[in-house]
Amino acid sequence: MTMMNIVNQLQGIGVSPGIAIGRARVIRQQEAGMTGVALTDEAAVRREMAQFHDAVGRSTEELTELMAKAETAVAEILEVQVELLHDPMWEGEVLTAIGEDKKNAGDAVLEVTRALVKTFGDMEDEYLRARAADIADIGKRVMRHLRSEERTREGAADIPEGYERGGPWRSRPNEVLSGSVVPGRDRDGAMNAVDGADTILVATDLSPSDLIALDISRVIGFATRAGGKTSHASIVARLRGIAAVAGCGEGLDAIADGDMLVLDGATGILLVSPAPEVVEQYIERRKEQLATTRFLQSLKSKEAITMDGTAVHLSANIGSIEDMEQALEYGAQGVGLLRTELLFMQSNSLPTEEEQFIFYKNILVRAAGRPVTIRTLDIGGDKALPYLPLPKEDNPFLGYRAIRISLDQKDLFLTQLKAILRASVFGECRILLPMIGSVQELRQAKTLIAEAKEVLTKQLLPYDADIRTGIMIEVPSAAIMADQLAKEADFFSIGTNDLCQYTLAVDRMNEKIKALYDPFHPAVLRLIRSVIEQGYLHHIPVEMCGELAGDPQATLLLLGMGLRDFSMNAPSIPVVKNIILQTNMTVARAVCHQEMNKIV
Ligand code: PEP
Ligand code: MG
Repeated sequence: MTMMNIVNQLQGIGVSPGIAIGRARVIRQQEAGMTGVALTDEAAVRREMAQFHDAVGRSTEELTELMAKAETAVAEILEVQVELLHDPMWEGEVLTAIGEDKKNAGDAVLEVTRALVKTFGDMEDEYLRARAADIADIGKRVMRHLRSEERTREGAADIPEGYERGGPWRSRPNEVLSGSVVPGRDRDGAMNAVDGADTILVATDLSPSDLIALDISRVIGFATRAGGKTSHASIVARLRGIAAVAGCGEGLDAIADGDMLVLDGATGILLVSPAPEVVEQYIERRKEQLATTRFLQSLKSKEAITMDGTAVHLSANIGSIEDMEQALEYGAQGVGLLRTELLFMQSNSLPTEEEQFIFYKNILVRAAGRPVTIRTLDIGGDKALPYLPLPKEDNPFLGYRAIRISLDQKDLFLTQLKAILRASVFGECRILLPMIGSVQELRQAKTLIAEAKEVLTKQLLPYDADIRTGIMIEVPSAAIMADQLAKEADFFSIGTNDLCQYTLAVDRMNEKIKALYDPFHPAVLRLIRSVIEQGYLHHIPVEMCGELAGDPQATLLLLGMGLRDFSMNAPSIPVVKNIILQTNMTVARAVCHQEMNKIV
């Protein structure tokens, strides 16, 4: 029995917002068994090795072809798979299993793939755990070639032909929305019940090749048993605006084709066979959300200008190339904050100059001339690197953090600066220094930037000699001394997250005192306003990249203070833009006056 008549709620991780109401289409992973046939002579070993090489070659060609037609984020995933195909960890192990353990090629591929999938699947790091799906995917691809099968969609193989081509399915896309479907399986069976534009895919995880093979333009939601924000299905779901919930766990196994599902990609809730009145509530919520989303999408290419003509620049805070894609989707005019520590946190060892250079360059190229502000490493506090042990401290947020580490570990800093400088010729690039607390620190950092430039000049490597260097204003001492700092920095970017915690002496991570963490506190607002004023006085741009910049409640207040450059998480851009388009500066100044003078 399925969960058909049981109201059931699964709690997963919301990885792509939106409400999807539809029928389940369950994709079961098919796993081929081993034959156990051992190789008895050297000729057989040579033959199996040759067949394996041939299958790897054909898989590489196939992936390269797929890469050419895939969107950037998926192409990057496929590129990782091509690398994995030739990685000694996988290819080398398979060859050893054939040559030394005398396994036939098929058994060797299955054995090595399963072992690696398990190893990666058990890893703590979310990014590495998600790589298990890549390894499983290449294993399946190579197996298919080894068996000389025609190209089939393994893992997604039980999706009927008509699904991909939009063929014999009897589509009933809007029945659910119009409220005419009673939750539960139809009399005419699951297959007909899941077609059309109201399909929610239910799978263990969806590999890149599944996603390419499927016509997901007809799918309104994904629910996966495994995975998290960085798994493939989640990345593609966000890119395509499909609601998705990952990490639903074992509960997902009980779902059958045709089960009625309600999925909320924001909260991570998945309802299985909900009561009709619950469906009705979600239908209403979905209608409201859709109307808002459509309206906000229509603002994408509009400039953010107030009704009385004040232009505002809206950029995105990003940490990865996927975030960059998302930023462009939401109409970001640039990147106001690239948190480089995310690259460091996803690596197993310090990223080399070359690895960093490629990462920064890819983002600049994708930004296509829009300004990109690269913040140098901001670790310490709550951000640790497993391979770079930091001393245990009683007050890590007040300790060895951000620029303090960079100025202390000069080689680490110089490597990053060289990578940023080399990438700077690929677009409009700026350097941002985190947690500067004094003019001395800024000067020391600038001396190291000059040193990095000198090294590159000697190496005959090109860089933007006029690259601008700005500082985060996130420590009260910097905000108070903004007049002095403005003479030596090219721009300011206000980090309200830290500025608030340091000004109010409220740990931003401490749940117990979270009510005291108030970026609207007049003490914080006064500092912000004075920093903006100093920027105007010294003719340097002042931007804001802390969370307050993306808070719609703060938009008028900040505009009224004179802020014109906001950087935020991409989905907030259209929301903030909508407010800007509907206001004028008189209103904004009045809101600002009121907020600044409130008694606390
Ligand atoms: C800030 O402190 O406001 C900021 C943007 O930096 P982070 O959140 O990365 O500390
Ligand atoms: Mg900060």
